[in-house]
Amino acid sequence: MSDILIPRRATRQVRVGHVMVGSDHPVVVQSMTNTDTADAEGTARQIFELWRAGSEVVRITVNSPEAAAQVGNIKTKLENWGCKVPLVGDFHFNGDRLLRDYPDCAEALAKYRINPGNVGKGSKRDEKFAFMVEKAIEYQKAVRIGVNWGSLDQSMATRLMDENAKRAVPLSVEAIMREALIRSALESADQAIAWGLSPDQIILSCKVSHVQDLIAVYRDLGGRCDYPLHLGLTEAGMGSKGIVASSAALAVLLQEGIGDTIRISLTPEPGGDRTKEVIVAQELLQTMGLRAFTPLVTACPGCGRTTSTVFQELAQKIQSFLREQMPVWREAYPGVEDMKVAVMGCVVNGPGESKLADIGISLPGTGEVPVCPVYVDGEKTVTLKGEQVAEEFQAIVENYVVSNYGDGGVKRRAVAAAKTIPLQPIR
Ligand code: SF4
Repeated sequence: MSDILIPRRATRQVRVGHVMVGSDHPVVVQSMTNTDTADAEGTARQIFELWRAGSEVVRITVNSPEAAAQVGNIKTKLENWGCKVPLVGDFHFNGDRLLRDYPDCAEALAKYRINPGNVGKGSKRDEKFAFMVEKAIEYQKAVRIGVNWGSLDQSMATRLMDENAKRAVPLSVEAIMREALIRSALESADQAIAWGLSPDQIILSCKVSHVQDLIAVYRDLGGRCDYPLHLGLTEAGMGSKGIVASSAALAVLLQEGIGDTIRISLTPEPGGDRTKEVIVAQELLQTMGLRAFTPLVTACPGCGRTTSTVFQELAQKIQSFLREQMPVWREAYPGVEDMKVAVMGCVVNGPGESKLADIGISLPGTGEVPVCPVYVDGEKTVTLKGEQVAEEFQAIVENYVVSNYGDGGVKRRAVAAAKTIPLQPIR
């Protein structure tokens, strides 16, 4: 974690199951399944995997009677597997009927996500929205009022367009659309409160698919309310495009203290791993120094001095190893998530980076002696060579974790670190 404190925008604190969302608490990582919720086994398995990867809240689609009928069953399965992650139900057009007809579903969920633009039109919309809010009050559940660019309440947009036409200097269409999103979220929240929902049960989101729009909308929204905000770029896209766009938008807002829970909406490759969205969200928060989840590997990019792929393979192997251990290490070795490991391609920058990490290794570059010096807490401890370098280095990392983070080791390590910080002369 960074020692640079980024003040959070002050918000209310909202309970989502056992997870608190708001400025008094760390930014929460959440994710969403892409299974058919009616398939209880498949959905429970994916939720389990997302939770195991570190998702603190998981959203599921509740779009049909078959899906709603399975929500309680999914929760029971998860609890039997030792997973108590809060579940969020994503409701749209028929959410009122599903919450009415499936009380087990209404009870099992920790939060209802309601998109005011997708719960009917005119007076029907108000009726449905009011009924869902009534159920949230009855079951004491949090509600995310989640407005989306693609399903914006058209009557709101039309009203604002008409008002805009009367201005001496009309605003751009984009500015009006952003205002319509914000007003839709805020007015829906006001309406829910008027029906009896506590403001402490409300989280807001206004999702758009362009980076600059998202930043503008959330800056404005954040200044006009004190509800916790759910951040996410909708339809971010596949692969690096989705990761870059989401990170660019969310990083700016998080740096300004805006955002209390995040989801990275990545389109997975066919057959791809859904947990990637959790890993990206965690890495975004961790690389910004806002939270720590998994020990991160510092690796150089490699260059002409690295003639083989051994160095890349080792860096990848160690990062995967660290991530795979975390479900167990998180409980057994508190504080291990802050550990830093360096894997460097040659001795040009290798020893320097290794000394700055908790554990570091430099592999031999072209023309260098084929040995790999290992540094632990800034001191060179051993030089590895031969075919088993990866396995031996992994064992060193494992031993380090056990001896420094086991049985109250966090404290031992902090004290030791304080003693070894070299004093820098003031110039
Ligand atoms: S540490 Fe060595 S291999 Fe890595 S980028 Fe620098 S010079 Fe190249």
